[in-house]
Amino acid sequence: MDCKKKNENIRCTVSQCRHNLVTEDFCSLDCISVGTHEDNPTVPECTDCNSFMKRTGMDC
Ligand code: SF4
Repeated sequence: MDCKKKNENIRCTVSQCRHNLVTEDFCSLDCISVGTHEDNPTVPECTDCNSFMKRTGMDC
């Protein structure tokens, strides 16, 4: 049984995140928060998903 609902509007390949579907490259949250760790972001690598939570052994 699926314990997460795929949000087809949020693609994501970060399988280390507990919100990631893993078997499919999607997020399961209704919405996410995106930010930056740079003073003046210029490339995608400058941005971060601030909704990331590290996966643990208890996660499905
Ligand atoms: S919370 Fe962010 S990092 Fe985690 S699966 Fe969703 S989009 Fe990816």
